[in-house]
Amino acid sequence: MALEAGLLEILACPACHAPLREETASEETPELLCESQSCGLAYPVRDGIPVLLVDEARRPA
Ligand SMILES: [Zn+2]
Repeated sequence: MALEAGLLEILACPACHAPLREETASEETPELLCESQSCGLAYPVRDGIPVLLVDEARRPA
């Protein structure tokens, strides 16, 4: 499920305020990845709605 056009442009990582990019590595759970190298948190997208909560984010390996 693609996010609404333009939505990514206004979203930022709540932890570091870096831009986010959509990642669809998994078909079931698209994610928004923080573009900061030092942060890199991955936020889940549920039913097309980004969950921009640090507590919900997947931390990089
Ligand atoms: Zn970040």
